[in-house]
Amino acid sequence: MLRIGIGYDLHRLVENRPLILGGEIIPFSHGLEGHSDADVLVHALMDALLGAAGLGDIGRHFPPGESRYRNISSLALLREVKSFLDRDGWKLINADTIIIAEAPRLAPYTEAMGKNLAAILDVPASCISVKATTTEGTGPIGRGEAIAAQAVALAIQGDGSSGLSQAKQFG
Ligand code: MG
Repeated sequence: MLRIGIGYDLHRLVENRPLILGGEIIPFSHGLEGHSDADVLVHALMDALLGAAGLGDIGRHFPPGESRYRNISSLALLREVKSFLDRDGWKLINADTIIIAEAPRLAPYTEAMGKNLAAILDVPASCISVKATTTEGTGPIGRGEAIAAQAVALAIQGDGSSGLSQAKQFG
């Protein structure tokens, strides 16, 4: 069975926080506010993975009020999501993601982010796409008040043969 999932997240930019996106620490005047390390890219990706697997959302699995998640690396949470998918026999085929930020310029970091995510999800780096865009100075993101991210993920359950035979059956 093939299924897709979608994820979206947004966090406010504040002073005196490191900016962490896709597990990379990015030099910048501001960082993202949040209970964990506020890595919006990883949060969006986790929601896409959970959505594809029919496992709800990250709020259900990692309630923000719990002290064990305070300032936790979101990559550790992604590792947990991967274990949920493994448990239920889901294999990630690919994920496409986009970070929406006015600044800083993220292109120099997207390849490293993709490699971080692919390593945890145990897929080739080519299976995880990380892109970045701006909002041309408009809206809260364009004013530098927040950074957002979107992700889609495609996953397959089992060895795929049942899905193929179903497809043939309904031909
Ligand atoms: Mg979040």
